[in-house]
Amino acid sequence: SSAPSYRVEGKPLTLPPFDYTPKPYNGPLADEILQKRQKYLGPSLFHYYKKPLNIVEGKMQYLYDETGRRYLDAIAGIVTVSCGHCHPDVLNAITEQSKLLQHATTVYLHHAIADFAEALASKMPGNLKVVYFVNSGSEANELAMLMARVYTGNLGMIGLRNAYHGGTSGTIGLTGLGTWKYPIPQGNIHHVVNPDPYRGTFGSSPGGYAKDVQDHINYGTSGKVAGFIAETIQGAGGVVELAPGYLEMVYDIVRRAGGVCIADEVQTGFGRTGSHYWGFETQDVIPDIVTMAKGIGNGLPLGAVVTTPEIASVLAQKIQFNTFGGNPVCSAGGLAVLRVLDKEKRQAHCADVGSHILARLRSLKEERYENIGDVRGRGLMIGMDLTKDFKNKTPGTELAAEVFERLRDVGVLVGKGGLHGNVIRIKPPMCITKEDADFLVDAIDHVLATAK
Ligand code: PLP
Repeated sequence: SSAPSYRVEGKPLTLPPFDYTPKPYNGPLADEILQKRQKYLGPSLFHYYKKPLNIVEGKMQYLYDETGRRYLDAIAGIVTVSCGHCHPDVLNAITEQSKLLQHATTVYLHHAIADFAEALASKMPGNLKVVYFVNSGSEANELAMLMARVYTGNLGMIGLRNAYHGGTSGTIGLTGLGTWKYPIPQGNIHHVVNPDPYRGTFGSSPGGYAKDVQDHINYGTSGKVAGFIAETIQGAGGVVELAPGYLEMVYDIVRRAGGVCIADEVQTGFGRTGSHYWGFETQDVIPDIVTMAKGIGNGLPLGAVVTTPEIASVLAQKIQFNTFGGNPVCSAGGLAVLRVLDKEKRQAHCADVGSHILARLRSLKEERYENIGDVRGRGLMIGMDLTKDFKNKTPGTELAAEVFERLRDVGVLVGKGGLHGNVIRIKPPMCITKEDADFLVDAIDHVLATAK
């Protein structure tokens, strides 16, 4: 069954037709799972929906709940499902590899690992040719920070306020959002003002923000740093694009202070921004270390760090190894993802459908809803910043919570982000169609028109 239909300006609001029948589901229902979860799983920060959602099946851009109801997955799992849920090529690659060998040790030779590393390196500019496989984005950023410190012999790291780089002991330090920070030692990490064109202190020109980096180096360090890390569009922080020209200025400052530059491409990589394969290319820079995860495996637990042979060589002085990173199944899946994205021209598709969504959301902002403070992003990495009072840009936290819940009621799953949870995040699988995109914007229109 599909979502019940609502009407937007006389037009019915129904999901576009989709030729797929989910399998009958006879498993445990939401209440039973919730009870077990509360008893046996750690208390989660995210309760997400007020009424928990039991998702039992996924097909391309859609998810199905226990009743067979279909939802448009406008957040791609959690920005993980790049090609589409259970994409046949990815499914086939991991199934065939699983039948032969799931895991031995990545110390043995295996063609899938080498082929995947070669394919990944071919997507990188400059001398970024050495790949390390890990299991998540946090692990990738941990390794990048280790590389920066060992390579430079310095300790200080510079990160951006409002950044999310992970939840492990080390990456909590890099993360620049207090909502994620436990009180543990986080020494030697300096958080500079993030160059947010909408809410930032210095508006959309990069100079003031870049000066803040230089000030931190001058006043807060010996003058030498290990490195600088940034997402090129801040994801969990609410889809914040960095002021144009910022990375070029800051990379220069950081390199003069002896540091290396790390691009966190966990959300922005693999063509999601449409205009470029990697987010850092939108700022015309080449980093020294690039970290990636999420979309790299279409949902498989996989991450990677890519760097130069020179930086990689310093890790040869000790053993650098993890048990599962780059195991044959994830590598086969990851290689299939790269091929699908090219074969199906998903990068160009992101640019096309993404600009359609952006244009339509911008006209909702201009013509209908004052409380849409900002519509931003690139490709299929889009944020809608909701405000209580658009003149003062007061975050519209309650409105965003209502929109998030009610979009689910009409059949659309989105994300929420920003320190105040006031940004609706739209990052669907890259196979979303124009009809889905129209349905999504109509749904947002309907929900905003009827918001309390
Ligand atoms: N970096 C960015 C930009 C992220 O968005 C995330 C996760 O949301 C991470 C790093 C951490 O990745 P993981 O949750 O796989 O450890």
